Amino acid sequence: MYDAIIIGGGPSGVAAATRIAQLGGKVAIIEKDKVGGVCVNWGCMPTKAMLASAKVVKEGFHAETFGIKVKTSIDFKKVVAYRDAVIEKSREHAKQILESYGIEIIYGEGAMIDKNTVGKNGSTFQTKNIILSTGSEVTIPNTIQLSKKVLTSKELVQIKTLPKKLVIIGGGVIGLEFASMFHLLGSQVTIIEMADKLLPNEDKEISQAMQEHITKQGITLLLSTKVEQITNDVVVSSSGKIPYDVVLVATGRKPLLPILTLDRLKIQYTSKGVLVNEKMQTNVKNVYCVGDTTGKSILAHVGMQQGVVAANNIMGQKDEIQYCIPRCIYSFPEVACVGKTEKEVKNPKTAIIHFKDVAKAIIDDKQEGFVKIIMEKENIVGFQMMGPSVTELINEAALIVSANITTKQILSTIHPHPTLGEIVKFAVQKATGQFLEETKT
Ligand SMILES: Cc1cc2nc3c(=O)[nH]c(=O)nc-3n(C[C@H](O)[C@H](O)[C@H](O)COP(=O)(O)OP(=O)(O)OC[C@H]3O[C@@H](n4cnc5c(N)ncnc54)[C@H](O)[C@@H]3O)c2cc1C
Repeated sequence: MYDAIIIGGGPSGVAAATRIAQLGGKVAIIEKDKVGGVCVNWGCMPTKAMLASAKVVKEGFHAETFGIKVKTSIDFKKVVAYRDAVIEKSREHAKQILESYGIEIIYGEGAMIDKNTVGKNGSTFQTKNIILSTGSEVTIPNTIQLSKKVLTSKELVQIKTLPKKLVIIGGGVIGLEFASMFHLLGSQVTIIEMADKLLPNEDKEISQAMQEHITKQGITLLLSTKVEQITNDVVVSSSGKIPYDVVLVATGRKPLLPILTLDRLKIQYTSKGVLVNEKMQTNVKNVYCVGDTTGKSILAHVGMQQGVVAANNIMGQKDEIQYCIPRCIYSFPEVACVGKTEKEVKNPKTAIIHFKDVAKAIIDDKQEGFVKIIMEKENIVGFQMMGPSVTELINEAALIVSANITTKQILSTIHPHPTLGEIVKFAVQKATGQFLEETKT
């Protein structure tokens, strides 16, 4: 008898399993493909590894500003080798952790038979609890047929030769990250987006600045554009015909729901995901669901937190999830937001600090971008950030918002100088009329 069997060995399943084992529970993961799930094998890790290569190209172009001459040339085979090595290391790391805790990995397709039994290719396992963490899959519009040249992100992150002309359908997070990396690695990139702006859910400063940066870099951005047809060599769109070698379909993801089993066990779900409470329990109390399958977000860091919450509850430690979710885009420039946008607050108070007013950004010559703080009465409720390392700076911002840290506490915290991180304190100073780094107006 297991304390829990986890169906799906992605980041949320691995986090849940590890936490259960840490608390002394007996746990197994059933995984039908590769440990680490989408994140390690086809998502976060390969994209960020390729973005790391692209960033080096960017730094190479920028080197002369610092008095250094470098000749940048790209060996795409080695970019691929680096990416694949990062995936391999991450997967091995996850496996080693599971192994060190004595967590069994059972390979094969798992399915819930009843609320205490999980089956896998004819074998059955008895368990006190089940955690469903089967992840998500890409959504493909009806008008689009995948082929050897029309790919999803899963195939594109495995590509071995650089496409000369890459057309990306969808200007969301995934589309923007691929556009940034392939543009710097040498592809001619076009983004086709149906909406009239990029990142419409964030505040207008982010949306507008992203559009300007993308265009300025030389990436073609077609907004308010619909794809009508994809022939063998062109994408026919409402803005004209665009030639391609490779098309990336980046139009979103949806939870992978084992619908027949959910129906049989009378577990409640909608097309957006399995319904869970704050403890990550479904309506069948010993069946939990975590990660993309819940549809609460399609982000690894949310899934991992949900996994820990489910594990704590299974092992008798009361825990509830709190959804203060950082939203990062690792494009060039980076974007990171947390909490409410200005649009979501009644009578908001906002302040913006630009990186050009931050000493470390001047030193590094990374002066593009800004941090905007959003306050509701005296509380800090959101940050919208664009610019250098904001996907790191968001950690302090997330803590401020999720833990309701007061302006007084932030202002009395000494931030090291010169650092990019000073910008978070500066934003609070500005919002409270105490900013010291600009001339008196
Ligand atoms: C290109 C791309 C880039 C991304 N970048 C980021 C990023 O930078 N940061 C971030 O936070 N998120 C990112 N994501 C999203 C992130 O990858 C997912 O949110 C995360 O992987 C979800 O974790 P999960 O555990 O819920 O599911 P998954 O990672 O999808 O894992 C589910 C696992 O379950 C297995 N499985 C499914 N059904 C069964 C079954 N019946 N039996 C056994 N096993 C089964 C699958 O094989 C899979 O291994 C990215 C996604 C993509 C596509």
